[in-house]
Amino acid sequence: MIMSEKCKQHVDSCRFCWMCHHICPVGNATGQERNTARARALGISLVNREAIDLSEIMDNVFECCTCGACVHDCVTGWDPVMFTKETRLQAALEGKLPEYIMTLVSNCMETGNAYGKTDTCDRLTEAAKSHYDKKEILLFLGVDAKFMACEQALKAVKVLEKAKVEFSVMENELPSGAQLDFLIGAANETKQQMLACAKALSEYKTVVVYDPNDAKVIKQIYKEYGIEVNAEVVTYTSFVAGLIKDGKLETSRGDKTVVFQDPYQLSRDLKETEEAREIVMSYAVLGEMLLNREETVWAGNILMAQYMPEIIKKVAERRIFNATSIGATAIVTACVSEYVSLKAAAKDVEIISLEDLILGE
Ligand code: SF4
Ligand code: SF4
Repeated sequence: MIMSEKCKQHVDSCRFCWMCHHICPVGNATGQERNTARARALGISLVNREAIDLSEIMDNVFECCTCGACVHDCVTGWDPVMFTKETRLQAALEGKLPEYIMTLVSNCMETGNAYGKTDTCDRLTEAAKSHYDKKEILLFLGVDAKFMACEQALKAVKVLEKAKVEFSVMENELPSGAQLDFLIGAANETKQQMLACAKALSEYKTVVVYDPNDAKVIKQIYKEYGIEVNAEVVTYTSFVAGLIKDGKLETSRGDKTVVFQDPYQLSRDLKETEEAREIVMSYAVLGEMLLNREETVWAGNILMAQYMPEIIKKVAERRIFNATSIGATAIVTACVSEYVSLKAAAKDVEIISLEDLILGE
């Protein structure tokens, strides 16, 4: 397998130690050694030494959610996310992607989303219509919200309406490229999708990105790939926290106690941890779960549930256990994918989005 010298160094330098063993949400859900960062590095190093074929490790390579908990914990500074993504890219270039991944990639190329969807639900379509006129502020919804959690996307729209923000929603919103980046890394196809999206976003003064996964990609990965957006790009959470500070959203702090599930894209990648808490504390009493802020544990997503649903359910159940074991009865999410994942696994615990709190739903 052709791999950059930098990645090879990270694969070979990962000492296959135990230091990040305990924090992998997938490894903890499956209980299998193969799902840890060190096992993945070992598999890739065997491919690099031509001891096994790349196709033999592909399932394993796609079991990593790229949450970066291992990167965050690796005291020696090695980056399993980097070598996992480069291995996916190489598998795409060598035609060795598993069929179930190829289906998702083809969908991304044909419809702009991995699910192959072309329509949003009627209620969202109707609500979005009144925002098709061009304004300075764009609300970027993202493919997960638009096609797989359209009621949540609708709530995101309603919150800005409630604050009387003048904003646009694109009639034909382009994908950010986040899904292709996850599936095939820095391939030309991924960069082309990102370039097209960056061009469209640059027509606005401010872009408010609803999904933390898109926010991470647009604010961080675009820069890594040399893609520029000529607009101020802000996370939905920071924008809404600003609306509350400016008195544009009415607040009323009830006595409901909740805990907050930090999306790793906000807390680890974009270093944003307090804005969502400011929103929560305007409407409820905030408790803290074990492993919060940068130490957060990923709670599942919609994309991986397409090909490993049982494991994603276990991932969500384990995170719910983190909350319920300290007596929490409600978890607030800021990521649409985690909302869907936790909601599907929730028993005896309420899953609430930030928008639910603000809208009182
Ligand atoms: S990534 Fe770092 S902490 Fe994890 S096994 Fe490799 S060397 Fe150890
Ligand atoms: S990035 Fe996350 S899922 Fe992947 S090996 Fe590291 S901790 Fe596990």
